[in-house]
Amino acid sequence: MAKSIREIKMAAQRAQMVEEDHGDEGFTCAYCGKVVSTEMAGTQHRNHCPHCLHSLHLDNEPGDRASVCHGDMEPIAVWVRDGGEWAILHRCKECGVIHSNRIAADDESLALMKLALKPVSSLPFPLEFLGRDRQ
Ligand SMILES: [Zn+2]
Ligand SMILES: [Zn+2]
Repeated sequence: MAKSIREIKMAAQRAQMVEEDHGDEGFTCAYCGKVVSTEMAGTQHRNHCPHCLHSLHLDNEPGDRASVCHGDMEPIAVWVRDGGEWAILHRCKECGVIHSNRIAADDESLALMKLALKPVSSLPFPLEFLGRDRQ
C-alpha cells in the first residue's frame, strides 16, 4: 500500500511535466539545481537546462514524454545541421541512448562554447604534431 520513493518521485515528475506543458511555470534543473524558466526558451519543448545543458530522459520521440527511464542526459557534443542550426547531442547516463536537441534561445553561450570546444581543448596528440602525418 505504501508507495515506493521511486513511485512518488515519478508522480512528482509527472505533475511537473503538466506544469511545463502550460508553459507558465519553471522547473528546477535536476543536475545543477538552478531554477529554469520555460518562458525564455523560444520553443514549446524546453528539454534541457540553459545553464548546464543537461536534460532528462523523458521522451522516446521528441515531446512525447513516453520514456520511463528518467535518467540524467549529459550533453556530449554540439553538431551543426544543414543551414547552420546548432543542436546538442545528449547521452543518457542510465540507458545510453543518444538524442539530438535543438539549442534554445536562452541557452548560455559560454556553456555552448565550452561544449563545442571540449574536444579541441583536450587533443589526443600534441598540438605540434598537427599535420605531420600528411608527409
Ligand atoms: Zn542545469
Ligand atoms: Zn535513459
